[in-house]
Amino acid sequence: MVSKTTRDEMTWYKCDQCGLMFDEKEDARQHEQNCDGEDASYIQ
Ligand SMILES: [Zn+2]
Repeated sequence: MVSKTTRDEMTWYKCDQCGLMFDEKEDARQHEQNCDGEDASYIQ
């Protein structure tokens, strides 16, 4: 899943599987489709 978060007055989209953050929602969604980090606990 991709969750929306606000940080430093900017909106970010975070991959819940691996914790990567993106400034473009589409980038996050595309990443999510290819993400293989579902077994990883939240690595920041
Ligand atoms: Zn990911």
